[in-house]
Amino acid sequence: MTPHDRLTDEPGRVAALRRYDILDTPSEGAFDKITDLVRTLVGVPISAVSLIDTNRQWFKSLAGLDATETPRSVAFCDHAIRQDAPLVIPDACADARFCDNPLVTGDPGIRSYAGVPLRTPDGYNVGSLCAIDTRTRDFAPEQMAILQGLAPIVVEQMELRLLAERDGLSGALTRRAFVAAIDRQIALFIRHQRPAALILLDIDHFKQVNDTHGHPAGDRVIEAVARCCATLSRPSDSLGRLGGEEFALLLPETAQEDALAAAQRFCDAVAALDIPHDPPLHVTASFGVAAIGPDRMTSQSWLAAADAALYAAKRSGRNRVELAAMPTAQAA
Ligand code: GH3
Ligand code: MG
Ligand code: MG
Repeated sequence: MTPHDRLTDEPGRVAALRRYDILDTPSEGAFDKITDLVRTLVGVPISAVSLIDTNRQWFKSLAGLDATETPRSVAFCDHAIRQDAPLVIPDACADARFCDNPLVTGDPGIRSYAGVPLRTPDGYNVGSLCAIDTRTRDFAPEQMAILQGLAPIVVEQMELRLLAERDGLSGALTRRAFVAAIDRQIALFIRHQRPAALILLDIDHFKQVNDTHGHPAGDRVIEAVARCCATLSRPSDSLGRLGGEEFALLLPETAQEDALAAAQRFCDAVAALDIPHDPPLHVTASFGVAAIGPDRMTSQSWLAAADAALYAAKRSGRNRVELAAMPTAQAA
């Protein structure tokens, strides 16, 4: 396949993006440092690491604006990924492709744009590193050189996080590594019928912590809750971070009743935490427990059972533990 073919191979491009397992993951310092650098060095109010999914652009990092994604149809970066060279738009209002774009005519009032494709080692443009301004402007050759120098570092960072098994903030296993641990546990169950249980937990009303005390305080809460659960669990248990403030524990060789008791201990310990802040912060979490069983023979179905129990715990008042009932064996 030639480089030109890769520009038009949309299924290949989406597969290349999905391989990174990065969409909808929490923010990570390395990417945020790069968009901060772009703002400072290129002198723009907004910079993004934008990834182009099938129907949306999703921001791994967005500095200077509060958004997580936009429809693909309005994404400047969707144009940047269709070419090898950087895309530079000095005046969006004078460009037929963008003059009626809602991001130009409305908030945030984009007027100029420079984006460099994020090209994977196998040659697919999965997104772009871009600099955005709300006034018309040119981008000097040195400024373009900065973007072109940083874009491959973004891709390297995406490659490195694929190799990493641990989440930088909490020290827990990444979702990908945790799912691999679940798959191994299921294989053990199939071969040796070894018992095991999964505990899912989600911090209650966490948005309020961020909104009231700021994102850095929220990060400290996430760290404290992760550390609390890791300390109370056995060395043979694994802790994974499944999403922003959602964690999971895999308990090998543990029967359903013992997992329930462990989850209640974690629940009580989280509620008793004094998290350093002025004044100290207090949070609770809700828990869902699911023992392994014949109807839970994929990581997806086992996690879904625990997630349903977690949802029930949320619905019935939070700061509590619920068990995913094991379906009764089907009559032969
Ligand atoms: P509920 O009790 O129903 O779980 O309510 P909630 O507010 O906890 O639920 P929701 O899932 O709506 O909010 C989760 C919030 O977590 C939204 C997101 O901004 C925040 N978040 C996700 N990742 C991080 C992170 O790494 N750090 C910080 N500080 N906040 C994060
Ligand atoms: Mg929550
Ligand atoms: Mg949540």
